[in-house]
This record gives sequence, C-alpha cells and structure tokens, in this order.
Amino acid sequence: MTDGPRLVLLGRQGSGKGTQAELLAEHFDVSHLSTGKIFRDSASAQVPAGLEAKAYMDRGELVPDEIVLAVVEERFANPVEIERGFILDGFPRTQPQAIELLQILARNPLDLAIDLSVPEEVVVRRLLERQREDDTEEGIQRRLELYEQETAPLIDFYRALGLLERVDGTGEPEQIRDSLTSLVERRVDRLRAAV
Ligand code: ADP
Repeated sequence: MTDGPRLVLLGRQGSGKGTQAELLAEHFDVSHLSTGKIFRDSASAQVPAGLEAKAYMDRGELVPDEIVLAVVEERFANPVEIERGFILDGFPRTQPQAIELLQILARNPLDLAIDLSVPEEVVVRRLLERQREDDTEEGIQRRLELYEQETAPLIDFYRALGLLERVDGTGEPEQIRDSLTSLVERRVDRLRAAV
C-alpha cells in the first residue's frame, strides 16, 4: 500500500468511534480528523466559528452543514492531505455532507465506510459515565435521535456505493481495533490491487 487508507467511521455517539479512529490512525500512520474535536478545540481557543459551533453542540444539535463543510474543505484544500490517507470521525453526519465529501475527494475516493455497531442501551450507559460537558441526559437523547434521523441513513448511502462494512463495537477496545485493522488491510489491498 503506497498511500494510507481513506476511511469514514460511522457509529452512534458513545460507540467508541473516537477511540478506534485514533488507534487506526496510529496503526496506518494517517491523520485522524474529528470534526467534534476541531470544534471543541477552536471553541476553547475562542475562535468565532468554534464558539458558534459550541452553541449548537451544547444543545445537542448538529452544527450547520456550512460550518462543518468549511472546516473540512480547509483541511483538504491541500491534495496531499487527501492522498496520504485519513480517518474521518464524526464526519459526514448528514447526507449533504456525504455528497459534498464525494466531491471534495474526487479522484481519490474513499476506500471504506465502517459502521461501528453498538446497541443504544450500551451507548447511553457509556455516555453517562464519560461526563463530557455536552453529555447531559437530554443532550444524549437528542444526539441519539439525530443520529437515527440524519446519520444512520448514511449506512445505506455507503452500502449502495459498495463501500460499507459493519464491525461489532461491543467487545474490548483492543479486540475491536484488531478486527478493524485486519478488515481495512484486506479491503484496501484488494481495492488497490484491482486498480
Ligand atoms: P459524539 O460522537 O459524542 O457526538 P463528537 O465529538 O463527534 O462526539 O461531536 C460532538 C458534537 O459536535 C456533535 O454533537 C455535534 O453538535 C457537533 N458535530 C461534530 N461533527 C459534526 C458534523 N459532521 N455535523 C454536524 N455537527 C457535528
């Protein structure tokens, strides 16, 4: 594999997507792009777009597509960022974001979208234990609702493109990481070999 893999991780809030994205990025030596983390960091640095995003995040709402897309477009403005591979975590979260991503990537399409699957009752328990600022009970409920409405349809979107794989996210983090890395290695080798 010359370039690193280009992956999207889908999964409910609390599915362990952030942890696994970080482990995968380390394993494949590619960048980890978490839109949620970018917003949290820019809000703490008092950057206006970050503060605007925070107002939505604190209510458990999605940040509007224009704000999210501006961040991603800026990050991918340099084609090298795309070519060397990446793990997208928390993006795309809506169909317009997913369509825009296809266009941004253009000649370097995604290799795979992985649905890290964890039942709702398990994620609610994990989120309540984590105690991040936006993890109130109402915030969690609202984000899970929005996941079903806006993000879960992306599973079918990527399935239709032949890019979807599902991985059980309920085991130990190391075991899930191993399933993910071997899946990605198999899939990406096969894809690149077919080109
Ligand atoms: P979680 O997976 O627990 O929701 P994230 O860090 O991925 O954590 O996201 C935190 C919040 O940031 C979301 O609830 C949402 O308000 C906002 N956010 C992050 N990424 C996006 C996105 N792609 N589109 C819209 N809002 C986003």
